[in-house]
Amino acid sequence: MADTPRELYARWRLQDTLLRYPGLRIAPSTNDDLVLAGELHFRAADLNGLTFEDQYEVELRVPSDFPRRTPTARETGGRIAPTFHKLEGDLLCLGARTELRLLLVQSPTLITFVERILIPYLFGHTYFTAHKRMPFGELEHGNEGLLQHFASLFGASDRVSALEFVRVASLRRRFANKRACPCGSGRRLGRCHNRKVNHLRELLGRSWFLKELRSIEREQ
Ligand SMILES: [Zn+2]
Repeated sequence: MADTPRELYARWRLQDTLLRYPGLRIAPSTNDDLVLAGELHFRAADLNGLTFEDQYEVELRVPSDFPRRTPTARETGGRIAPTFHKLEGDLLCLGARTELRLLLVQSPTLITFVERILIPYLFGHTYFTAHKRMPFGELEHGNEGLLQHFASLFGASDRVSALEFVRVASLRRRFANKRACPCGSGRRLGRCHNRKVNHLRELLGRSWFLKELRSIEREQ
């Protein structure tokens, strides 16, 4: 039997989220999504420990199959220009899909979404406005950004090797282990970066990497 909204919300830690961010309220929704809207107030620090405090008007949509699907967010106060990191439909571009997915698989709560994904994005905008650069570096758009993220995730030295890591993660473990390790060591994956690949394959599933691989190859 499907979970009742009450059970879902308890698991998502909705109540905690609303208590911690009292500017957010549950807003009317025209479908199954849970909509949270209002002022999101936060304090965040840059790499030098310098603290910033700010607040944005936001609207979050949480799909009923969260965390399988990632929530989306919009900034509704008109502060964030369309030229800043945004997707179609004025949605905020919160990061590489796999990065968001990994965070939410490991901690599937709304607190995690707000504090590890949304606030870092908003902080990035606040910081960028003040300093004309992003606080922790930034990803490129499209494929470049995805490959850049995969390179750091797998510890690959370049984007070609990053794509090969995605490919071996999309294969069954026993086939993947016989392939040459994408890091270029000359050893087989099974005798090189297999732990890292197996760990990520277990967390996200082979089909996730297959989907990412196809989507990257389609756009190349
Ligand atoms: Zn290796």
